[in-house]
Amino acid sequence: MKNYKADVVIIGGGLSGITTALEIVENQPNKKILIIERGLKENFGGLAKKSFGGVFFTGSKEQKRLGIKDSPELAWMDWLSFAEFEPDDEYGKMWAKQFVYGNIDYVYYWLKSKGIRFFPVVHWVERGLFTPGNSVPRFHMIWGTGYELIRVLLQHLEKYEQSIEILFRCKVDDIWLDSNQKKVTGCSGIHLDTNEPFEVHTNIIVVSAGGITGNPELVKKYWGYQHHSKDSKIPKILLNGSILEADGSLHFILEKKGIPLHKLHRQWNYAAGVHHPNPKFNGEGLSLVPAKSALWVNAYGERIGNPPLVSAYDTLYLVREIVKQPGAYSWHIMNYKIALKELAVSGAEFNEGIRDKKIFQFLLTILFGNKKLVHTLMNSCIDFITANSLEDLVKKMNELQDEYKTDYQTLKDTILRYDSMIQRGKKFFNDDQLRRIMHLRQYRGDRIRTLKFQRILDKSAFPLIAIRLHILTRKTLGGVITNLKSQVMNNQNQPIEGLYAVGETAGFGGGGIHGYRALEGTFLGSCIFTGRIAAKDILKKI
Ligand SMILES: Cc1cc2nc3c(=O)[nH]c(=O)nc-3n(C[C@H](O)[C@H](O)[C@H](O)COP(=O)(O)OP(=O)(O)OC[C@H]3O[C@@H](n4cnc5c(N)ncnc54)[C@H](O)[C@@H]3O)c2cc1C
Repeated sequence: MKNYKADVVIIGGGLSGITTALEIVENQPNKKILIIERGLKENFGGLAKKSFGGVFFTGSKEQKRLGIKDSPELAWMDWLSFAEFEPDDEYGKMWAKQFVYGNIDYVYYWLKSKGIRFFPVVHWVERGLFTPGNSVPRFHMIWGTGYELIRVLLQHLEKYEQSIEILFRCKVDDIWLDSNQKKVTGCSGIHLDTNEPFEVHTNIIVVSAGGITGNPELVKKYWGYQHHSKDSKIPKILLNGSILEADGSLHFILEKKGIPLHKLHRQWNYAAGVHHPNPKFNGEGLSLVPAKSALWVNAYGERIGNPPLVSAYDTLYLVREIVKQPGAYSWHIMNYKIALKELAVSGAEFNEGIRDKKIFQFLLTILFGNKKLVHTLMNSCIDFITANSLEDLVKKMNELQDEYKTDYQTLKDTILRYDSMIQRGKKFFNDDQLRRIMHLRQYRGDRIRTLKFQRILDKSAFPLIAIRLHILTRKTLGGVITNLKSQVMNNQNQPIEGLYAVGETAGFGGGGIHGYRALEGTFLGSCIFTGRIAAKDILKKI
């Protein structure tokens, strides 16, 4: 048995844990911090290291330069509209407000002070469909993606080597509370490589162990879409867009001790998942940024949704509609020209230009499309199908499907109805997807990435491409309830002395700042926000 001692123990080395540690050592370099991480050293940084690096800000310099008038008041109205909070979301709602009003001071300027830079064009995501979403663009891309975010923060952390000890490949499997369950006293676990148990005695523990989306079976167990439609089905294939280590192990350890978990059925899954061409684990998925000019159809070839599905407005609507379809999966129908211009993958891995800060390469992909990405996926992703005729495309689609089959005539009619409207000309457009493309193209950030009314069966844009899309897990919106200092609340609604939860474990604050829907880019920001706030309280106690 190994024994450790520390002033503060941080369980989980993702963005929220790293931020908490950094904020503490920068203010109190003489205290001992122990970070316990079950993953490998090379993956230090958790999900943030793989992330796209889009961060939600309200009132940034980048917005002002683009003439975007934003304010916390406007953002708070948008947030309330999108979240659909329920009466028992007391702490989540308070945290959300604190975050909307505090993100510029606590996250934006903090990141800038650490050396993080943002791309000058702010993206406009989650604009809202039936209920208002982001009234203005707020998604700020980190120049270098989440990979750079973690690289820079770790560089700062390294300056405090003497105060910080990091145990990799060590999994915590118990958190100790005193007999009244009012105070934390330590934790224990196991070294995964040697099977040697360990114990840590401490008065302060921060749980920053992420969410539950690394275990799709758990996501299925807490499936939440039936709350909105009884036609909702759980997909047979649910791709894993997270990391295996984010399996909620600590959530359930805390739950066993009587600590309430708030609404784990609120999940932020994505509609456009495909199998990773080189998976590191079984079921690993990639989340595509869907093409706006593609037609989204079900297994039979029928267009999904009324209004039809188009991304950038309401992710929850996309997922809710797809899980009502036969098999709870969908098809994205397009041609090569559309894929080249509009298709992207969310995350650091397939966006080398921006990740590696190569401005020339990045601009080339914006102007001429990401040829490397499209060809890699066409050649090695099992969900990508190409063909030079619709007959062939349908044949190949059906070779991939068992239970349901695409009907050639149905798909042909679906496409022709759309294509012929484009051919009749703009003044006769009466299709919601075309109206949305018009709307998207009004904003410079989208105009350069969205084609001007592209027909699908236009032979000059061939080959045809069909992509089978599965629902992909990504973020857990619910979690451990925390008060406004990030202290974990027990079932008597009292804070447990010395026990904190930050980032995704806490539903990004208070058990869930997002309610049912996220305005996007709010995950990275709130990991930093909750981490810094926890550190502020901890600094008063050590
Ligand atoms: C591809 C991708 C793209 C994304 N893009 C964006 C984006 O553009 N904008 C945005 O806002 N968000 C984005 N996100 C989401 C965001 O990255 C995460 O929500 C956030 O990084 C979560 O950080 P965390 O510290 O709370 O948890 P995690 O990053 O999950 O870290 C938790 C850590 O705890 C460790 N751990 C778990 N259990 C134990 C245990 N029992 N003992 C010891 N260690 C344990 C895990 O190994 C892990 O390293 C993206 C996510 C992905 C995967």
